[in-house]
Amino acid sequence: MESIDFSERIEVIGSPDVMVIGAGPAGIGAALSAARLGKEVVVIEQTNAIGGIATSGLHGHICTYSSWSNPKEQVVGGICREFADRVEARGFGVFSGSSFDFEVEGFKLVLEEMFNEAGIKTYYYTQFSDVVVENETVKAVIIQSKNGRQAFTPRMVIDCSGDADVAARAGVPFEQGRDNDGSTQPMTLMFQLGGVDVERVSQFRFHEYPEKYNDHNTYKMHALWKEAQDNGNMEPFQSGIMGWWYTPTRPDQLGINFTHIFGLDSTRVEDLTYATMEGRRQAYHSAEVYRKYVPGMENCWVSHCAALIGTRESRRIKGLYKITEQDLMAEKEFEDSIGYGSFFIDIHNCTGAGMDSGTWYPPQGFKYQIPYRALVPVNMNNLLVAGRCISCTHTALGSLRVMPQCVLEGEACGAAAAQAIDDGAGVAEVSIPRLQQTLRDQGAIVSAGDIKAYQPR
Ligand SMILES: Cc1cc2nc3c(=O)[nH]c(=O)nc-3n(C[C@H](O)[C@H](O)[C@H](O)COP(=O)(O)OP(=O)(O)OC[C@H]3O[C@@H](n4cnc5c(N)ncnc54)[C@H](O)[C@@H]3O)c2cc1C
Repeated sequence: MESIDFSERIEVIGSPDVMVIGAGPAGIGAALSAARLGKEVVVIEQTNAIGGIATSGLHGHICTYSSWSNPKEQVVGGICREFADRVEARGFGVFSGSSFDFEVEGFKLVLEEMFNEAGIKTYYYTQFSDVVVENETVKAVIIQSKNGRQAFTPRMVIDCSGDADVAARAGVPFEQGRDNDGSTQPMTLMFQLGGVDVERVSQFRFHEYPEKYNDHNTYKMHALWKEAQDNGNMEPFQSGIMGWWYTPTRPDQLGINFTHIFGLDSTRVEDLTYATMEGRRQAYHSAEVYRKYVPGMENCWVSHCAALIGTRESRRIKGLYKITEQDLMAEKEFEDSIGYGSFFIDIHNCTGAGMDSGTWYPPQGFKYQIPYRALVPVNMNNLLVAGRCISCTHTALGSLRVMPQCVLEGEACGAAAAQAIDDGAGVAEVSIPRLQQTLRDQGAIVSAGDIKAYQPR
C-alpha cells in the first residue's frame, strides 16, 4: 500500500483537568460527575447532540434500572435516575421504575441544560484523532474539526467513544467479537415511524395476534414476519421485533429497533457507511411490510432514521479485571464495586436474523456488581474507559452494554479521575472506599446496603 509521511505543529487549545471523548451514556456520567466535583471538563463529540445511541442513535428507551423483572427494587440511581426524573418533569418522557422512555429531542435539550449548568465545555462536530503517550501517560489528545487539527493537554482522559478509540490509539490491548471467529453482534439503524394508531397496534399485537397465529410471543411476533417472508413480501434480515418503543408524550409515533446489518466492523469507516445506507434501505422496506401486515400501521411513514448507526459491540479493552458471563450468572460481588447491572444476556445473532444461542434469561431479582478494575486499562496512568468497550467477554457484554450501566461506569470514571487529580495518583491507585463514598453522595447504588425500593419522582 502506498503511504506518505506527514507532520504538523499543532496549536494546544486547552489543558483541562478531565477530557471526555464521546458524549454518549458513558460520557454523560463521566463529564457530569467530574465537573460536579469541581474539575474543569472538556467533552469532544462527533455528532451534534449529547446522548450517543440514546439520542443520535434515535433510541428513546433506557433499561433497566431495577433488578431483573422486579421494578420495585432499584439497583441504579445517581445521574442515570436524575436525568430520567428531569425529563419526566419536563413532560418529555416517563420513568417506570425499571425503564425510561423519552422523546429523543426533549432528552437532548435536558442533557444540554445539565452540561451547561455543570460548566462543561462541549465541542460538537469534533472527532478524536490521536494521542501522544509518554511513560504510560496520555500527554496530549489531538482532535479534528472544522478548525483543523488542534490539541488538548488534559490531566486525565476518559474514553467514552463506545469503540475504545482513545485506548486503541494509546496502545492498550483489546479484543473484538466472539472468541471463535471475531464476529460481533449486528449493527442496527434505528428509525422512527409517524402515523401509527398505537392503540390499534396493541389490540392486534396482544389480543388478535396470539389467536390468529396461535403464538403467545407477542413481543416479537415471529409468526407474522414468517408469513410475510413466505409470501415473498419481506427480506430475511429479521425474524422478530427487537424493540418497538412508545412514549405516551408522542402518541402516534413508534421508535423501531428492527434493522440488522451483519458481518461488519464498526471501527472501519467503510463498514459504517455501508451499514448506514443498508440500514436506511431496510427501514423503508420494513415500513412497507408493516403497512401491509400490521393493523394500525396502514398509514405509517418513516419520520426519521438515526443520525448515528447503532453499534452493539466493537472493541473491548484489556483492563485490570475482565468481567465474565460466569461472574454475572453467579451474581458475583466485588470489593471495588461501582454499581450494578441486571439486564439479561442479550446477544443478537452475529450472522443472521434473530437471537444467538448464548442469550440467557435470568431469574427474577437478578443483579450483579461491576468492579472498578474493569474500567482501568492495563499500563496507563491517566486513562479510564467507560461504556460498551470496558474489559469483559463478548458474552458478558450482552448484558453490560445497556445504557444504565454505561452511565454509572462513566460516573465512576469521572469521580475516580477527580480523586486521582486531588491525590496526585494514577487511576489504578485511587482509594476504593473513598470513590464508593463519593458515588453514594451522588445518589449512586454501589453495594447491597444502597439498594432501595422504587420511589416515584
Ligand atoms: C440498536 C440498539 C438497541 C439497543 N437497545 C438498548 C435498550 O433497549 N436499552 C438500553 O439501555 N441499551 C440499549 N442498547 C445499548 C446501548 O445503547 C449502548 O450500548 C450504549 O449506548 C453504549 O454507550 P456508550 O456511551 O458506551 O456509547 P455510545 O452510545 O455509542 O456513545 C458514544 C459517543 O461517542 C461519540 N464518538 C464515538 N467515537 C468518537 C470519536 N472518535 N470522536 C468523537 N466522538 C466520538 C459518538 O458519536 C457517541 O455520541 C442498544 C444498542 C443498540 C445499538
